Amino acid sequence: MEGHVLALCGGVGGAKFAAGLAAVLPPEQLTIVVNTGDDFEHIGLSISPDIDTVLYALSGLSDAVRGWGVADESWRCMEMLERLGEPQWFMLGDRDLAMHLARTHRLRAGETLSGVTSDLALRLGIAAAIAPMSDDRVRTEVDTEQCALPFQRYFVAEQCKPVARAIRYVGAEVARPSPAFSAALTRRDLAAVMICPSNPYLSIDPILAVPGVRAQLERVRAPRVAVSPIIAGKALKGPAAKLMGELGVEPDVVSVARHYRELIDVLIIDESDAARAGDVEAVGVKAVTAPAIMRTAADRAALAREALAAARQSKGVAV
Ligand code: GDP
Ligand code: CA
Repeated sequence: MEGHVLALCGGVGGAKFAAGLAAVLPPEQLTIVVNTGDDFEHIGLSISPDIDTVLYALSGLSDAVRGWGVADESWRCMEMLERLGEPQWFMLGDRDLAMHLARTHRLRAGETLSGVTSDLALRLGIAAAIAPMSDDRVRTEVDTEQCALPFQRYFVAEQCKPVARAIRYVGAEVARPSPAFSAALTRRDLAAVMICPSNPYLSIDPILAVPGVRAQLERVRAPRVAVSPIIAGKALKGPAAKLMGELGVEPDVVSVARHYRELIDVLIIDESDAARAGDVEAVGVKAVTAPAIMRTAADRAALAREALAAARQSKGVAV
């Protein structure tokens, strides 16, 4: 395995795959660029949910049962916040709070989100590079039938129930890619770009909305592989399939292929979607069928190996 791998990632689904890549690649060969469109400020704290999810997944701290946040969590601070009349719609575990406190005070002291993220990763024993998509402020907003909702209001408080009409990445038009992202995109030894199985609209599109990113991915010579977050017409978690329906596309692997058409060479689809491989290829994207549901660390590593092998085969380069 030679060359560098750049992975674009959102939260829970993407982080599982990113953890698989981290398990099978030498750390110096991997840069994970994470969506920050979900970031928000809450009771004075700067919260970066997708970065946190990736940090917890790669450091082995994720709570596998709950499916988000930190394992061995406690909620004492949240209980006290409730007594004090503070909002309860966003859950803040005690261990998770430490992350938000560390990030918030460092940002206030003038560090960049890139600097904070790479140091926190290092402190948690993560050797691969993890970078925000941008150090500039980008905020995803969902236009619903009733009103425009900031992302966390839509996702957490409203539980994605309002019908979406459009999605905006406020601030993206003037954001710059983070230094590590820019560097990875232009590396001469870039051997593969991976689009993790994250929500295409809420997790990957904000990254692609940063000026220059889409154009660079379109012309990058390295093979580009996406893993479908849609399996058998459904999202394993979260609103991806519901959103696709509301935005007027069939929630299936063919729509995922069409969505990423200009940006990927290969789409990994689950075995249960094997019958759709021909339809994916009709879109102009090579389909590779593999077990794409990640329940265990072994599943994550196996899917990462499949994706790397697919990259290697797609253009005959040394990955
Ligand atoms: P969020 O930011 O926490 O919402 O997470 P992401 O956007 O990174 O991931 C959400 C997507 O991950 C959903 O569309 C899920 O279908 C997908 N997902 C979750 N687990 C898996 C898995 O094991 N395999 C695949 N292929 N997709 C998954
Ligand atoms: Ca997210």
